Amino acid sequence: MGLSDIITRVDAATLAADRAPGSVELIAVSKVQPPERVEAVLEAGQRMFGENRVQEAAGRWPTFQERYAGITLHLIGPLQTNKARQAVEMFDVIQTLDRPKLATTLARLSDERGQSPEVFIQVNTGAEAQKAGILPEETDAFVAEVRQLGLPLAGLMCIPPVDEDPAAHFTMLAQMAERNGLTGLSMGMSADFEIAIAMGATHVRVGSAIFGTRAYELV
Ligand SMILES: *Cc1c(COP(=O)(O)O)cnc(C)c1O
Repeated sequence: MGLSDIITRVDAATLAADRAPGSVELIAVSKVQPPERVEAVLEAGQRMFGENRVQEAAGRWPTFQERYAGITLHLIGPLQTNKARQAVEMFDVIQTLDRPKLATTLARLSDERGQSPEVFIQVNTGAEAQKAGILPEETDAFVAEVRQLGLPLAGLMCIPPVDEDPAAHFTMLAQMAERNGLTGLSMGMSADFEIAIAMGATHVRVGSAIFGTRAYELV
């Protein structure tokens, strides 16, 4: 696979969906990948990356950021409240806002800092017990709450259940965003980003198809 193939496929899917060229952002998910693979993708010109863990990101991105200008970092893994300060300092975008307490904490830290990362609300579209995200039926109220707190809300994010047709989940997320007046839709991974683009994704999160298989999976 590799970066250039994925860029070609993102562009083709965007065109096929009759959407404006460049309307889909490609987030290269570098979690767990060895630094030399990340470096190769940086050398190839990619600047938007996703990491799952604050700790892992803090360990390597400051060095890359000294060497490459214009990097944008998205947090796409669950965020514990006690790591929120570090996350606000490191990440340009936090995609995994999923509970009121975290929203309050992020708003307070952003006020202190005079600057806030953009946020996406993660929706647990499959209502899976083991998965993070706000439940679909609680999403509209949570959107209002996040806006009330003054956080820059960019849109919604989801990770569909592995054993289900992702299209139904992407459609649900798109409808929830639309009725809440939100334009950002972070959905689609290596296996299904083209489907997500057809359903309106503005951000796709692609890891293994760019970097190769991960040596292990985060749980
Ligand atoms: C790991 C991960 C991805 C990328 O998964 P691939 O299947 O490797 O593309 C995307 N989004 C989230 C939230 C992830 O945790």
